[in-house]
Amino acid sequence: MEDCLFCKIIAGEIPSNKIYEDERVYAFTDIDPKAPVHILVIPKKHIKSILEVSEEDFEYLDAMVRAAQKIAETQKIAADGFRLVFNTGENGGQTVHHLHMHLLGGRYMEWPPG
Ligand code: ADP
Repeated sequence: MEDCLFCKIIAGEIPSNKIYEDERVYAFTDIDPKAPVHILVIPKKHIKSILEVSEEDFEYLDAMVRAAQKIAETQKIAADGFRLVFNTGENGGQTVHHLHMHLLGGRYMEWPPG
């Protein structure tokens, strides 16, 4: 997708602080962190949101969750706990329309979110 910010980050056209990468997944620190650890885990395939994950795309979700497990360990937040978030659509507060999973940790996460 030509005009997709996250596709450009995957392609290296826009710089990012890479945390993890494999065949299907890229993960990098959020530019505007909402917690001491705030990492975005994204599929290398352009999927717009959790609503657009087709049957054949679920291997990307699987890979994203596996990546989150590894990142939580390497970032040393697994033991204390963390939060995974998919903002979806307008009410969900999604502003970048390339599927991304927020991985937030390093502090206590309030509930309910704002
Ligand atoms: P929101 O912008 O309301 O948090 P999203 O769930 O769509 O909604 O999240 C997009 C995320 O992408 C934001 O947390 C934002 O800080 C982050 N972001 C935007 N541009 C960049 C960038 N160039 N590098 C890293 N993170 C980015």
